[in-house]
Amino acid sequence: MKAQNNANDLDLSLSPKALQAFSKTNAYRHAAAMLFDWVVIFATIYYCIQFFNPLTYFLAVIIIGGRMHGLAILMHDATHFSFLKNQKWNDLITDIFITYPIFTTIANYRQNHLRHHRHLNSENDPDWAAKLPTQEYTFPKTKQEFLLTVFSYLFLVQGTKDALALLNRFGSAKKGQADKAKRDYTRMTFYVLVFTLLTFTGSLKYFLLFWVVPFLSTLFMFQYIRSVAEHFGELAYDHLLTSTRTVKATWIEQFILAPHNVSYHLEHHLYPGVPFYHLPKLHELLMHDEGYKEKAHITQGYVSGLLNELGKYLDSENCSSEHSDKMVEEYEKVSA
Ligand SMILES: [Zn+2]
Repeated sequence: MKAQNNANDLDLSLSPKALQAFSKTNAYRHAAAMLFDWVVIFATIYYCIQFFNPLTYFLAVIIIGGRMHGLAILMHDATHFSFLKNQKWNDLITDIFITYPIFTTIANYRQNHLRHHRHLNSENDPDWAAKLPTQEYTFPKTKQEFLLTVFSYLFLVQGTKDALALLNRFGSAKKGQADKAKRDYTRMTFYVLVFTLLTFTGSLKYFLLFWVVPFLSTLFMFQYIRSVAEHFGELAYDHLLTSTRTVKATWIEQFILAPHNVSYHLEHHLYPGVPFYHLPKLHELLMHDEGYKEKAHITQGYVSGLLNELGKYLDSENCSSEHSDKMVEEYEKVSA
């Protein structure tokens, strides 16, 4: 069976004209979202220093990790060239304001991510291949097991493990682009400048408290929940509409867990060129397609919906191993 990777492989009723409208990018909206994330981060740091205590610090780590995650989602949009028409500026601005601060580059992320789209949920999908064999991504899980994994991120160990794994995966990406040396030089200059600034302003301890700690804890915690929601647990991998999940998130879930409409992941895999601010409208229109409405895997909320789905098969006898076998079978079928 041919792998279904985007809407071209399906028979959906969205007209080319509507798709053209949804694919229109607006650099100001993207830039405003980036500015919003940075303003929230700096405001949180400022107020936490003014009213420092364990509770305000804990809240700050959650808010900053959430906004770092927001920045990472904007990096993802820029990876699909949905920020600026000029690809060089699209990448340079994203590198300086997002990817260098989160210790990677858009070029490395793009190599990994485009393969994920091309080979979705198969052995050639780098995300799938890296996650499937791990304990964190083995489902079904009880709610307690899942929440234990989620909260283990607060101790920084799991986040450090994830960060190292990502570094390894992105580091092993294909080398040799013509302008790679130039980009490496820009990246090193960026880190030297930031480090000098932090040292001379006596801000290194704030960098550790308000950047490194959220980076290794809540950022990876939110990324883990999102990754699970997107591609794992109680999905049927034999059809694109059921192998990726869209979550209708509540406003608080959107602010903390699923920034910039990232929870419309099924729509993103169908139409990767549609920027994040058009995804809710695209979803609404697709819901008028009877075939889509009937088959698409749509979950109502992370807490109210996703948590229950992840452990769905655990209630009946012996079903845990049956379900795992079914997943492996489907995986092999799709990979064949
Ligand atoms: Zn994508």
